Amino acid sequence: MELSDPIWASPREIIRARRPQHPISVFAPSALQATAQHFLHGFPGLVTYAVKANPEPMVIENLVAAGITGFDVASPAEIALIRSLAPGSALHYHNPVRSRDEIACAIAAEVTSWSVDSQSELDKLRAQGLVPGSEIAVRFKLPVAGAAYDFGSKFGATEAQAVQLLAQAAALGFRPSLTFHPGTQCTDPAAWDTYIRAAASIARAAGVTLARLNLGGGFPSHRAQGPAPALDEIFARIDQAVETAFGAARPALVCEPGRGLVADSVTHIACVKALRDGRDVFLNDGVYGALTELPQIGLLERIEVIAPDGRPRRAPAYPRVVFGPTCDSLDRLPGEMALPGDLAEGDYILFHGLGAYSGVTNTRFNGFGQLETLTAMRLTD
Ligand SMILES: *Cc1c(COP(=O)(O)O)cnc(C)c1O
Repeated sequence: MELSDPIWASPREIIRARRPQHPISVFAPSALQATAQHFLHGFPGLVTYAVKANPEPMVIENLVAAGITGFDVASPAEIALIRSLAPGSALHYHNPVRSRDEIACAIAAEVTSWSVDSQSELDKLRAQGLVPGSEIAVRFKLPVAGAAYDFGSKFGATEAQAVQLLAQAAALGFRPSLTFHPGTQCTDPAAWDTYIRAAASIARAAGVTLARLNLGGGFPSHRAQGPAPALDEIFARIDQAVETAFGAARPALVCEPGRGLVADSVTHIACVKALRDGRDVFLNDGVYGALTELPQIGLLERIEVIAPDGRPRRAPAYPRVVFGPTCDSLDRLPGEMALPGDLAEGDYILFHGLGAYSGVTNTRFNGFGQLETLTAMRLTD
């Protein structure tokens, strides 16, 4: 983005002035700063950012300006990105499966923490020359509900395996730590509670005192109508659970939010390209574009429909089938979306809170997905 690019007042102003024919991501640095401050002041430990949620340089730069000093990275490209935008920051490589080349690259970039969920990957790190003193964070999983979808189907050692890996990491001279991910968009504070108790019991069984415990991501963004999820309640619950479970052996805490930090700093603008025979809605964006996630985690309820002149559509809503622009029949939003009765071709749908796992997973499939990012002072009028 050039310095000369204008800063818009709001998404509605963009619609009135530009009547955009391709999807637009509207980023509000002020919203990101506010969420970052909420985490930095509210979370009882170190806040690191999971880069994969939104690696836009503008986002990273704003997080650094807000005071974020650590990043969860998952690939050499993410490592290079953070080294260039936030040179002095701490890098936590918490993708527990890596090729030997990726390990070599991360060692050279001075990654300070490594997650591990298997014997073979721990052996690989040693074979590639990871030196004692580095932090090994053993990632474990539990069958816990509460999130939009479960991360335990891909990563995480069982509790018994975690005991063994943690004891071994400590014996080898690594800084022993534990980590987990409760699943993304986790709205149930009890999930962290359960994981924290399990972490304490794994550490006890391994005979290890943890210097740090990393609680992963999963912090929810504001997707449903009504008030935003109560982050403070989750932070308080975490603090209490750590106190109860660890007592005097309380470890320093780390979290690695992706969605919870960035989602609410972006409003996405899609245009209604057709109302087929007044019924089915076709948008200029869909599941191969910035709306990739919706079939997995459900519709985003925080939407507004705006006419091209900037006026909101307010007729009573009824459910419609909504398709994306490609010729692929998977390109459909889940279920039916409640849209105002006066919806018309050329209208715009604002999806609030679409700053995570949207722009970054956008594709150019079928020639669509021309996505532009603009900056605004605020996201609602
Ligand atoms: C994706 C990921 C995160 C961020 O998850 P959110 O649900 O977006 O907060 C954090 N840690 C790890 C290891 C991840 O893979």
